[in-house]
Amino acid sequence: MANQTKSIVQQSLDALLEDHSFLPSLKENTRRQAFTSLEAILSTPNHVHKSFLRIPLEDGKVVRIPAYRVQHNNALGPYKGGIRFHESVNEEEVMNLASLMTLKNALHDVPFGGGKGGVVINPRQFSVKELHQICKKYVQYFSDVLGPDKDIPAPDVGSGEREMDWMMAEYKSIRPGEPYRGSFTGKSVINGGSLGRREATGKGVYFTFRYMLHDFIKEQSSLLTTTENIFAKTALEFKERPLKLAVQGFGNVGSVAALEAYQCVHLQNKIVAVSDRNVTLYNEDGLDIPALVQFSSKHNGDLPTTDEELSTIDVKAEIRDRENVLYLDVDVLILAALEDQIHKNNMDKIKARIIVEGANAPVTSEADQSLSKKGVIIIPDILANAGGVIVSYFEWLQGRETQFYSEDQVFKLLVDKMKGTMDTILPEFFGDPFPLRQNCYIHSVMKLSTVLYHQGKLY
Ligand code: GLU
Repeated sequence: MANQTKSIVQQSLDALLEDHSFLPSLKENTRRQAFTSLEAILSTPNHVHKSFLRIPLEDGKVVRIPAYRVQHNNALGPYKGGIRFHESVNEEEVMNLASLMTLKNALHDVPFGGGKGGVVINPRQFSVKELHQICKKYVQYFSDVLGPDKDIPAPDVGSGEREMDWMMAEYKSIRPGEPYRGSFTGKSVINGGSLGRREATGKGVYFTFRYMLHDFIKEQSSLLTTTENIFAKTALEFKERPLKLAVQGFGNVGSVAALEAYQCVHLQNKIVAVSDRNVTLYNEDGLDIPALVQFSSKHNGDLPTTDEELSTIDVKAEIRDRENVLYLDVDVLILAALEDQIHKNNMDKIKARIIVEGANAPVTSEADQSLSKKGVIIIPDILANAGGVIVSYFEWLQGRETQFYSEDQVFKLLVDKMKGTMDTILPEFFGDPFPLRQNCYIHSVMKLSTVLYHQGKLY
């Protein structure tokens, strides 16, 4: 568990230890012991699996590729979480991401535990045939610990439907006759995936801040105007006025969130900047997001990087360096790239008043504390980007029932689930002095602690 996750879990446990209305049957010494046990259980994964995949390359060489599957906690159900394909993947990162999955699922009442996988490669440097081999080998090496009721992987950075289809097919051939549809989620629709899964994370990201800054503020105006809470004051700055947005990352999460914001015409959002691994595109009057989405889908996920490319799609924008997106004078900054994007060396340059974590862990703990002190609302990863795993859960259910939902049904179920969480968390958030991340963690830790207590795991 990374330090930030660890220290917020610890703070949540400290607060709950003192709150005697929580698990009231635990008293004095027994109570202290139980909370010490909880700290040990929640800060350590159950299992860390590591293998070196043996992959024959097309040029005849054989390479060994490090790969991980971390199973953090399964008190609430089978382990669940994506498999990241990225060259910076390492054991500590996968452990932290697995613990975030445990907290995320607990927060949204998704009946899964937390896990995460990783393969240390840059997928752009491998041929399709080699990637297919890597996926098959991943399943061969880890198949004993995976399964629809054990541990269910899904896409993450660098992986998608194609990889999940390959992996499920390999799982099926390794375990003939056994249930396989729920072994992987995020599959293509033709292969048993759910309608709406691809868009789910980005849609959920947009929904979280739209709901907070529009619906919730409107409905709870009296709560917000009567409290001294600094975050309530920030939220009220946005009451009934159009928002200026910047989106870092134009992959599956960022591009969908940007498109949702663009299409939400009645709110008159203006997306003034988007970025990817090469560039930031900026236009203070707002960017033509559908044209950029179309361009990137035809160019291997990349945004235009030259004036010529922009003119082919008739988009007007200034081309800036890729970091520029972070420092613009905008209301909302959506971070949908990788972790550690805002840190102690650049946190003072951030002007946005609302930060939405579409990626996992994009704000370091120092930056989180400093920005929160200034009243910046950070909608944390475990709240904002849970749309993916929520629809993964619907996919898993549909696979079990072999009964499939329409896209409208999926999005309705998704919004209802996220709205349910927001309605529990937001009144507490605007009523007490903790940042939103801490509120979410307390909620997740309460759920996990109660279940672990009832399962007899604390003594
Ligand atoms: N990788 C996504 C996440 O970090 C989705 C996980 C899943 O669907 O299991 O939440």
